[in-house]
Amino acid sequence: MATIINGKELSATIRKEIADRTEEFIKQKGRAPGLAVIIVGEDPASKVYVRNKHKACDEVGFYSQVIELPEETTEEELLSRIRELNASESIDGILVQLPLPRHICEQNVIETIDPKKDVDVFHPMNVGKLTTGNHILTPCTPAGVMEMLRRSGIEIKGKKCVVVGRSNIVGKPMAILLLEAHGTVTVCHSKTVDLKKECLEADILVSAIGKPGFITADMIKPGATVIDVGINRNKEGKLCGDVDYDKVEKIAAYITPVPGGVGPMTVTMLMKNTLLAAENRTK
Ligand code: NDP
Repeated sequence: MATIINGKELSATIRKEIADRTEEFIKQKGRAPGLAVIIVGEDPASKVYVRNKHKACDEVGFYSQVIELPEETTEEELLSRIRELNASESIDGILVQLPLPRHICEQNVIETIDPKKDVDVFHPMNVGKLTTGNHILTPCTPAGVMEMLRRSGIEIKGKKCVVVGRSNIVGKPMAILLLEAHGTVTVCHSKTVDLKKECLEADILVSAIGKPGFITADMIKPGATVIDVGINRNKEGKLCGDVDYDKVEKIAAYITPVPGGVGPMTVTMLMKNTLLAAENRTK
């Protein structure tokens, strides 16, 4: 039976650390770190994510602003709101909840956010800094995975790490961070010829595909660490990851559950980025 890496518990510990550092920040600067979240339209899942981010801000003592804009907001209107937030003294982090309505160009939005306030770490300047290893802010989901590995005492140096998925949000930055931590990294995707063979070599397997039950027990090396980033609904409508959890946990040494794994860590790392952005802007 694998040891479960409990993202909820770990998140609570890290949020407490962030809250302590926030108190110190407030003492020194006379204000709280501030996060602005913009949501355009009525997507129900996005609304839940935004609410969770707002709640997390309250928990760690941040100032937070949720800006809800109607679906028909034009790109120029949105960019102008972002420019206002770029100029605001009380805002250290700006996040625009994706996906955006189709008439708005995501890349224009990402590139309008001041890179110093880009807590999602999507701006090309921050992606460049990440790639060259001199980043202050780290993409939230992969950063959460790294914290889970480190705080569980799982060695990365010299280990064979396999990342399944190559999105800009998860797979690619995940591979960069594992590489930075001296893992030997393979990135797999839908065109990978023998996914099972690649996965079977992994000491650390990170799955970010978005398909329920896709990673099966016969793809796992005994004693491996299995990190499930996927958030999916199974046939019964229940939340689940990419990994066939019940069978894989009998083979792996460490495993993350869904829900209660990487998900809560992502929001916690957003809080950490906001604090780091605030400290960096005011130093
Ligand atoms: P994307 O859809 O952008 O990327 C999915 C990746 O999986 C692609 O690179 C794709 O390959 C690959 N893939 C799809 N099918 C296969 C296959 N049959 N074999 C191998 N690789 C395959 O998704 P995201 O990266 O945005 O998200 C992935 C999952 O993680 C989703 O379930 C999402 O909900 C979840 N997620 C969870 C977060 C959290 O906080 N826990 C945060 C963000 C995402 P190709 O590039 O070739 O198409």
